[in-house]
Amino acid sequence: MERLTALFLMTLFLAGCGAIPAKRTDAPLRGPATTTIAPNPQARQCLARLGQEGSNFTPLPDKYYGAGCSTLNAVNLNALQGDAAQFSLSNIGPVTCPTANTLAGWARFGVDRAARQLLGSPLQRIETMGSYSCRNVAGSGRRSAHASAQAIDVSAFVLADGRRISVLDGWSGGSSAEREFLRMVHSSACKRFGTVLGPDYNAAHRNHLHLEEGGSSFCR
Ligand SMILES: [Zn+2]
Repeated sequence: MERLTALFLMTLFLAGCGAIPAKRTDAPLRGPATTTIAPNPQARQCLARLGQEGSNFTPLPDKYYGAGCSTLNAVNLNALQGDAAQFSLSNIGPVTCPTANTLAGWARFGVDRAARQLLGSPLQRIETMGSYSCRNVAGSGRRSAHASAQAIDVSAFVLADGRRISVLDGWSGGSSAEREFLRMVHSSACKRFGTVLGPDYNAAHRNHLHLEEGGSSFCR
């Protein structure tokens, strides 16, 4: 965390004294193009907020992969802060900073508190099936929010007492408390994310919750 703060402050300092060019260079579209610019004020504000809230993360350089796919103002999330302890994340990959902030709020106020209230144990880890992926929405010609690192697929929750509640096994097959927990975290995700898709939406989502930042509100 200290190293991250130092890195972040250094970026701010360099940006402030003009050592980093303020304009985005035209990125070639062959292979992932990386920009070396300082984040814009809005992006910096988001990173600052993510740090203030206790998330442990590494900012990533902007990358354009062509074909409408990019990871801009993205971070690698190592851990999120809860009321008492941090939560780890597995397999997550790059997510945009606003998406990371939304995830952090949901993990703390939606998931961890629900776990303690309904299952009697705090959250320890959120397992995911990834975030960034250059692909279309299934069966459409439209780019998925995964293609811009604005969506995360959450597959399971591991509690401090060792229990693992997966969407696949728990949604219909778990104990009544586990089923209630999964529905509660699903509905609290709907209050924070723009689009949330789970097992009740279709068979493709039987094993995960698709959490998508921004846009119109769609909760299934
Ligand atoms: Zn998804």
